[in-house]
Amino acid sequence: MSQQLADIPVTELKGVGNALAIKLERLGIHSMQDMLLHLPLRYQDRTRVVPIGGLRPGDECVIEAEVKVADVVQGRRRSLVCRIQDGTGTMSLRFFHFNAAQKNSLKPGSRIRCFGEARPGAHGLEMVHPEYKQIAGDGYTPIAETLTPVYPATEGLHQNRLRSLIDLAQQYLKSHPLEDLLPDAMRSRWQMPEINRAIAYLHHPPADADQDQMLEGKHPAQRRLAFEELLAHHLSLLKLRAKTRELGAVALPFQGHYCQTFINSLPFPLTNAQLRVSQEVAQDLAQPWPMLRLVQGDVGSGKTVVAALAGLQAVENNQQAAVMAPTEILAEQHYNNFSAWLEPLGLKVAWLAGKLKGKQREAQLQLIRSGEAHVVVGTHALFQEEVVFADLGLVVIDEQHRFGVHQRLSLREKGRNGHITPHQLIMTATPIPRTLTMSAYADLDCSIIDELPPGRTPVNTVVIADERRDQVIARVKAACAEGRQVYWVCTLIEESEALQCQAAEVTAEQLRETLPELRVGLVHGRMKPAEKAAVMGEFKAAELDLLVATTVIEVGVDVPNASVMIIENPERLGLAQLHQLRGRVGRGSVESFCVLMYHAPLSKQGRERLAVMRETTDGFKIAEKDLQLRGPGEVLGTRQTGMMEFRIADLQRDADLLTRVKQVASQINEQPLHAEAMIGRWLGRGEEYGTV
Ligand code: ADP
Ligand code: MG
Repeated sequence: MSQQLADIPVTELKGVGNALAIKLERLGIHSMQDMLLHLPLRYQDRTRVVPIGGLRPGDECVIEAEVKVADVVQGRRRSLVCRIQDGTGTMSLRFFHFNAAQKNSLKPGSRIRCFGEARPGAHGLEMVHPEYKQIAGDGYTPIAETLTPVYPATEGLHQNRLRSLIDLAQQYLKSHPLEDLLPDAMRSRWQMPEINRAIAYLHHPPADADQDQMLEGKHPAQRRLAFEELLAHHLSLLKLRAKTRELGAVALPFQGHYCQTFINSLPFPLTNAQLRVSQEVAQDLAQPWPMLRLVQGDVGSGKTVVAALAGLQAVENNQQAAVMAPTEILAEQHYNNFSAWLEPLGLKVAWLAGKLKGKQREAQLQLIRSGEAHVVVGTHALFQEEVVFADLGLVVIDEQHRFGVHQRLSLREKGRNGHITPHQLIMTATPIPRTLTMSAYADLDCSIIDELPPGRTPVNTVVIADERRDQVIARVKAACAEGRQVYWVCTLIEESEALQCQAAEVTAEQLRETLPELRVGLVHGRMKPAEKAAVMGEFKAAELDLLVATTVIEVGVDVPNASVMIIENPERLGLAQLHQLRGRVGRGSVESFCVLMYHAPLSKQGRERLAVMRETTDGFKIAEKDLQLRGPGEVLGTRQTGMMEFRIADLQRDADLLTRVKQVASQINEQPLHAEAMIGRWLGRGEEYGTV
């Protein structure tokens, strides 16, 4: 039966034409089933009449009273004011929009029933524009039997209209009940109500329902639906994963020679975490289906070496590896690293970015096409159509948190070569809270590099108001006098890159004037890649003392001698981004500082966030806090992509359900039709992950 309600468009309802259907679509409502899953935000209690004497400001309720007088008064705005009395007290009703008939109907002595919010007025409490009706003679006027739902509405579609539409949809539900896709045993084990009952309950809860619990989204009926929704998302990702497994890949068994020579050539031993994760990757690569592994490791944990080892394993099997970075600066740095590491082994590294043009570009494309290039490093330019790989066996994507699941899929498609799909290694420096990994990344296997190379000293973080800029500058001067290098980061102003660059230019100019003895460089997003690279090169070679930068230095740039970072207006950035930035310092053995120079006044949340930065350098703790303060959409950076949008579930509130979701997913999967129906019910047809 469930298919039916999902298949009935809203236009089936009486009075729903195209114009209304478009408004409903804005609320994500396409079918009758969607209509039923559009749940109230809160409720009004219209089930009992409240005595006026017992009203407090802010109460939203029903009262019944006798009209004493109704008059038009000329205040700041003309209004109709009606005094009413019920034996326990008196109050006013106020109407700014009214007509003569309305005034005449509110005759002294008549009885009315009103619903509205009691607010403090000029003469005691008043209700502005209450809903009201006359109580006929001594006839009986029925009162609501259940709580009245208040739905998320949209412009041009009012609460009352929405209510009556959803009531109509509920009539349909009686004759076309939804199929309960959760097995009875599972429901009774966790005391989850049957789906039709849960839906009916939430649209019209009984008068004595626990409203506080419902406001928090903790009612068993809500939890039951949230559970099914989370399960549907999870199943969709598992399906995606299963589909990937069906694809063929070239098995790349570990051979050893290049890998071992490379490890021996490094000036340091690998950490245990690097070794463990590399082994996990090596095992995946040996399978004849594509690896899909996410490697999480804090800034500076040494992910690049892990990527290089994976690349070498591909090369040992006569396959190419592509390494993709999100920015040109980072791609260039990877290129430099990989060249320095691999060329001594007699391997060729190619380089590709959007800015590379003409003959140079053609030369690189030729290296990639002919198979002469063993490893190819670049930006997303690597996935343009004209780029043809001879034998692409592995794709490494660095700093994955910038991409959502949809982009991840499209890269996979672009990397595909006939029936063979390359292995994929995805690396992120933004630790992803466990709850999110379980849901948003259920299609990936996860490895965590949970150890930093030895000899790093934790960064001291100081939070300081920009009124004390002079002191900060003195500190910069002192650090440089000791031969250290300093980053000075200017943050985004009003989302405008142009303004941000301008601000960085001005700051650099001011610092040059204030600190004439220092060599000050500037790097920002609007400079040509070659210019940026030149400045970064000078900084790396210690030809600059102070580098003023926009947030372009966020990812990956590695200058161990830089031990101080000033971040202006850190309150504008997310915690994850601050953590990334701060990771640029503390890479050498000297004590490092990060100065968060905020602009007062800070919001409560702003203060809390900067305090987190001061108190911990643990990326996972920071990520959990970020999730708590900003919500999953922001943390994953995918608000725009529409990924992870839930109708009912809330990853944080319902985090405890995720373990259960994981437990039962395979059980549901044994009934493929149920799994399909569930995915269809919650993600909508064609919108599920994997049909990109
Ligand atoms: P991230 O995980 O942030 O990408 P990188 O791969 O850039 O980190 O490594 C950061 C720095 O640590 C680099 O200079 C790298 O050469 C160095 N490094 C990597 N692994 C080790 C190790 N096992 N011991 C010491 N230094 C290491
Ligand atoms: Mg890195």
